[in-house]
Amino acid sequence: MRKPLIAGNWKMNTTVDEAKKLVSAILNDLDNADGVEKVLCPPFISLSSIKELLEGTVVKLGAQNMYFEDKGAYTGEISPIMLSELCDYVILGHSERRQYFSETDQAVNKKVKKAFEYSLKPIFCVGESLADNEAGRTEQVITTQVRAGLEGVSPSPEMVIAYEPVWAIGTGKAATGKQANATISLIRRTIADLWNGGTAQEVRILYGGSVTSGNIAEFIAEADIDGALVGGASLKSSEFVSIIRQTSSLKATR
Ligand code: PEP
Repeated sequence: MRKPLIAGNWKMNTTVDEAKKLVSAILNDLDNADGVEKVLCPPFISLSSIKELLEGTVVKLGAQNMYFEDKGAYTGEISPIMLSELCDYVILGHSERRQYFSETDQAVNKKVKKAFEYSLKPIFCVGESLADNEAGRTEQVITTQVRAGLEGVSPSPEMVIAYEPVWAIGTGKAATGKQANATISLIRRTIADLWNGGTAQEVRILYGGSVTSGNIAEFIAEADIDGALVGGASLKSSEFVSIIRQTSSLKATR
């Protein structure tokens, strides 16, 4: 049984003060939503204050990115060693990083390896562009991204993958539950092929792309979808808590 996971990606939003207020509101609203793993991924500068606020709670902390070297002359970068003091999770290969910061599959692969080296659980993102989707290249693009990102990575049930079609991120045009499930099943088959069937059944695969409290149920109802990576809707505590609560009542592992 895979434990559902709901992760909030705050992207480049919230000052430290705003981030602390948002966490307090989420913790205040969150009651009996058990059986679901909950992860908040605020900007780097808020990680240490939010770690304190999350102490003793059931909510875990994640970062939005990380560099693949341990330390050194890499001005402006954040290393896995730094994150390992603070976080359980790290988002890697988000499409905005690939698109605006020229992150390649090879760089993402190095990051995935480094994350495991320092006991950080990767939330490894893959997704096809609108052009690829319209040209019928979704399967090919996704398989290539998964294989490249996991090349040389030892099988691990701690791996989390987020399928985020680029055309659905921040657009308000989510995939349908069926579309997302079909691609997520393909990802699971690819992992079975690359690693083994047992681990492929343990790896959690999330959907991301315009998830809200109004459509989460459609995704959670699908057999292969183990939760969501939520962007915009994670910035509003009532929305995010509703997404968690619905996941808990529809899919929680007890
Ligand atoms: C994301 O940033 O990972 C995301 C899915 O964003 P949104 O929910 O806003 O589409």
